[in-house]
Amino acid sequence: MGRIVIAGGGIIGLFTAYSLLHKGHHITVIDKGDLNNNCSTGNAGMIVPSHIIPLASPGVVAKGLKWMLSAKSPFYINPRLDPDLIRWAWKFYRSSNKIHVDNSLPHLKNIGQYSKDLYQRFVRTHHDHDFFWREKGLLLLYRTSQGEKEEMEAAAMVQSAGLQAELLSWSQIKDLEPAVHRDVKGGVMYPDDALLSPAGLLYYLRSYLEKNDVDIVSGQSIQTFGRNSRRVYSVKTEEQHYECDYLVIAAGAWSASLSKLLSVKIPMRAGKGYSYVSDNYLQLRQPAILSEKKVTVSPYGRHVRFGGTMEITGLSHKISPLRVQGIAESIGLYYSGYTMEMPALSHVWSGLRPVSPDGMPYIGISKSYDNVLFATGHSMMGVSLAPATGQIIADLVGGIKPPFPIDAFSPDRF
Ligand SMILES: Cc1cc2nc3c(=O)[nH]c(=O)nc-3n(C[C@H](O)[C@H](O)[C@H](O)COP(=O)(O)OP(=O)(O)OC[C@H]3O[C@@H](n4cnc5c(N)ncnc54)[C@H](O)[C@@H]3O)c2cc1C
Repeated sequence: MGRIVIAGGGIIGLFTAYSLLHKGHHITVIDKGDLNNNCSTGNAGMIVPSHIIPLASPGVVAKGLKWMLSAKSPFYINPRLDPDLIRWAWKFYRSSNKIHVDNSLPHLKNIGQYSKDLYQRFVRTHHDHDFFWREKGLLLLYRTSQGEKEEMEAAAMVQSAGLQAELLSWSQIKDLEPAVHRDVKGGVMYPDDALLSPAGLLYYLRSYLEKNDVDIVSGQSIQTFGRNSRRVYSVKTEEQHYECDYLVIAAGAWSASLSKLLSVKIPMRAGKGYSYVSDNYLQLRQPAILSEKKVTVSPYGRHVRFGGTMEITGLSHKISPLRVQGIAESIGLYYSGYTMEMPALSHVWSGLRPVSPDGMPYIGISKSYDNVLFATGHSMMGVSLAPATGQIIADLVGGIKPPFPIDAFSPDRF
């Protein structure tokens, strides 16, 4: 029992607060923003226990280099002589191999399944929720032979890990998604995946936490920490000073700079992505990823959110119109009847994913301190893995062994 300060009020910080509730702690979540516009609000909202292959995997570097040549491609890295970026890129390159995938896969499977179970429990417990929870699976659509090869390989790995992946012909896809384009060659259905509205979830969680006496402090940026050799005892913003018995770093893409203040190095880059909401006049029903273009399609009844891109360009929300155009132009390649429309840039959302160089999150206690825990680096899966991350942090604070080994997520692994 004690005073717990959580740095960051994104989905990871809020689920951590949720898991720590009712255990006698005094919980304070501090955020520099208003909690309505972080990476956790405008993302694709996909809950993906099927995603067990880390971002750093064979072939990804070669593909990334090819994509760098096109201004509309889904990936870009701003090459510059920044030592942190060079070190991060080198670690990413070193991790992009089969051994790393084989080693990581069981851990991502454990945490992904656990998190989905916790979501189901959360939905059962909170009948009044209004965040569009739908267990409809996730469809991967491909148009090319290369896309087919990659998706078949991914599906085979998922199946050999004991999870479900169903290979679908065009006509089977057509039954599920009548708007599918004739040029789509086929697809893979991951029936255990789900969809939710991330902004709805964040709003719900925040209100629930506030009703349950969690102090949510918005508009205050953490500047420094009071610490001695093994403990952090206070957190300081420009305005106030918060004493703490435990500190949880859940500051998304900013976690690396906060960690530096603690003399802890966690390699991380911001991976910018975009999304926008459009009228769902195609009546899309099925959450999907357009394989070759890496575009996400999240239907929410009368509206649909399209998303994509991964730009490693620093902590900037600046929008690249050409990459947004790349997303918009992709839709009509996979769905028929689509009229390409470029969204007004003022309606485009951008979010900064916290990307570790091996594609694995940082979850656990730092070896440098007795009372500092890390809950960050979830890259493309923060919403998906938030309930499990929160629960693991609550277990560690309570001196309970998490339900599976978490060494692969150690904040000290680099
Ligand atoms: C286009 C796109 C689509 C995506 N789709 C999916 C998806 O379908 N499924 C999925 O699981 N994930 C998805 N993601 C990834 C997911 O959005 C992220 O992994 C997740 O939101 C990260 O949550 P977080 O809480 O770690 O970070 P954030 O949501 O960024 O929260 C961190 C918070 O820390 C605060 N903060 C930072 N520094 C300080 C400071 N000094 N003092 C106080 N506060 C501070 C920030 O203001 C921020 O509110 C997607 C991301 C993008 C960009």
